[in-house]
Amino acid sequence: MSFKIAIDGPSGAGKTTLAKSVAKKLGFTYIDTGAMYRTVGLYMLNNGIDINNEKDVVKELDNIKINLKYKDGIQLIFLNGKDVSSDIRMNEVSHAASVVSVYKDVREKLVFMQRELAKSTNVVMDGRDIGTNVLKDANIKIFLTADVKMRAIRRMEELREKGINKTVAEVEEELKIRDDRDMNRENNPLKKAEDAIELDTTNMKVEEEVNFIINLYNERKGEDNENND
Ligand code: C5P
Repeated sequence: MSFKIAIDGPSGAGKTTLAKSVAKKLGFTYIDTGAMYRTVGLYMLNNGIDINNEKDVVKELDNIKINLKYKDGIQLIFLNGKDVSSDIRMNEVSHAASVVSVYKDVREKLVFMQRELAKSTNVVMDGRDIGTNVLKDANIKIFLTADVKMRAIRRMEELREKGINKTVAEVEEELKIRDDRDMNRENNPLKKAEDAIELDTTNMKVEEEVNFIINLYNERKGEDNENND
């Protein structure tokens, strides 16, 4: 049985940074499920498909082949054989991913892939519905939150590094729209799993967050061994 760590939460709460560090420390595979929704969004933009038209989006799904590869522990994502790891980080793609992730067929395709990936390897998977849906049986479930202003500042700094200048207020507005869509959609909305531990990272250092999860891992790894005896 593989050991599974699920990290969910709203945009900009720091899931990716945390998940990557934990995966590196434990030698687990990191799976960024947001990157998969972004790849579907990117495909639609590249092919001139109206992302607001569910039927048109769904019709394209069979033409989309997504592969994950790992180079020096970093996840790379391929769309129909092309490395799109940086293209999917564009701001228009964040929006497109948020829109297409509402559609049931899009989610079914990606959730299937995500479960397959976690079957035989130890994983740290981050997203919105990992603890509630994709890996309901995860050994550790974390729901990561942070004050919206703090999340907007973090996201603004990331954008600035890419040469995109936006005000905190603009980024905050975008985050709120995406969170709202994620929390209120019909299919697998963003919410804390009942058995998830909520971690508010507003005033936490990444190192503290990582240690928190590593300690949980050490406790629960032991519990699992005892249960298997
Ligand atoms: O995490 P990230 O911001 O890269 O995700 C992009 C979008 O994909 C999110 O805004 C969310 O709407 C969607 N998503 C999702 N379910 C996941 C991961 C991401 O709906 N498990």
